[in-house]
Amino acid sequence: MQDLTLIVGGGPAGASCAWKLASAGIPCILIDKASFPRDKVCGGLLSARAAEILITSGILSEYELEDLTLKKHRTVSLWNRDELLRTYTSHRAPVRIVSRRQFDSVLLDKAASAGASVITGDAVVSIESMSLTTSSGKNYSCSNLVGADGCDSFVRRLISGRGSKGKGMGLEYFIPLTDLNEKPEDLQIHFGYIPYGYIWVFPDGEKVNIGAGAVGSPASPFDIAGALNGFLKDRGISCDKYQLHGAPIPSLVLERNLGKGNMYLAGDAAGLVDHVSGEGIGHAVESGFLVSDCIISGGDRRTVLKNKNCCIDIVRQSMLYRHLLFSPFIRGAAMMRLRDNEEFARGYWNIISGTESYNEMFRRLLT
Ligand SMILES: Cc1cc2nc3c(=O)[nH]c(=O)nc-3n(C[C@H](O)[C@H](O)[C@H](O)COP(=O)(O)OP(=O)(O)OC[C@H]3O[C@@H](n4cnc5c(N)ncnc54)[C@H](O)[C@@H]3O)c2cc1C
Repeated sequence: MQDLTLIVGGGPAGASCAWKLASAGIPCILIDKASFPRDKVCGGLLSARAAEILITSGILSEYELEDLTLKKHRTVSLWNRDELLRTYTSHRAPVRIVSRRQFDSVLLDKAASAGASVITGDAVVSIESMSLTTSSGKNYSCSNLVGADGCDSFVRRLISGRGSKGKGMGLEYFIPLTDLNEKPEDLQIHFGYIPYGYIWVFPDGEKVNIGAGAVGSPASPFDIAGALNGFLKDRGISCDKYQLHGAPIPSLVLERNLGKGNMYLAGDAAGLVDHVSGEGIGHAVESGFLVSDCIISGGDRRTVLKNKNCCIDIVRQSMLYRHLLFSPFIRGAAMMRLRDNEEFARGYWNIISGTESYNEMFRRLLT
């Protein structure tokens, strides 16, 4: 079939790409190896910027997003190991905690309702000259191929000869609130445990996601697990009771052109994770839309990708600015700034919530 687009992966990147293509009347098939609903290792923090993209695109209504929201947060406490640097409350739009199991399933249903063919429980095992074979032995040919197959992207390896896995890793526990003596209400970010990373505490109302992640870090997965388990032990939480989940995070492997020719990459497959905040869900959705716009425009990447405030630009900036927060030479000064300078803390929140770009934040702080 000449105009068919095949999308490998049905996470937020693949589902949003399929939804937009199908909504524009472009035939597409999305294939995911998992059966949905499926779990995805993730803190589930959806930035305000991501929420806006979901609503303004029309893929979710405000009500649907409210339904998917387990908890909204406006307050974060920032720590440098045992020192509470500050507690910051924002008056801007909140961030939300979602369950990836639910969220990803709803987006995939949206793609199917818009007219995309969605095939789940079948893995893509080989791709040759725009022909793809799945583990069940089915063959598909297409004119456009989209790799939205996550951090260990098969399609990316085909396009660029390297995957999007790098020195990035995230590990997490889900702990019921009832198991904790001190029940956190607000978000917590703990610096100082892992180079180029942090430990997070994200309560969703019933449980707490406590995890550790680092991007572009010399820390190994064992170092990160050791830091996380030590953090819990110091707080009297026995991690043996809970299951540790982990997944790679793309690190320093940004594909600025989202692939090449009629082969496209979106989300983690394109390396679109913020290297300071770890945000990837919103960037996956946005890049899924960008890829669909490229396909709808007949492959005009130059026009579609020129927006300076898109996710590609944000991730590129984060790869630069991460050193200002995490570099061992200035980390101490950055921690003091977060403690002593309200504007700096506001800037950090604005980055987490996606309400300000890195360039805007630094321009504001320097004037
Ligand atoms: C521990 C951790 C915590 C995180 N916390 C946050 C957070 O709080 N907020 C945030 O914004 N981001 C967070 N992220 C990042 C976020 O999870 C990712 O950036 C996001 O899931 C990327 O979406 P995606 O659609 O590109 O890929 P994915 O969600 O990984 O989806 C890829 C899909 O491709 C499918 N697939 C893979 N290979 C094949 C194949 N060969 N054939 C068919 N299907 C295939 C998979 O089954 C999967 O469903 C976190 C990541 C980690 C590891």
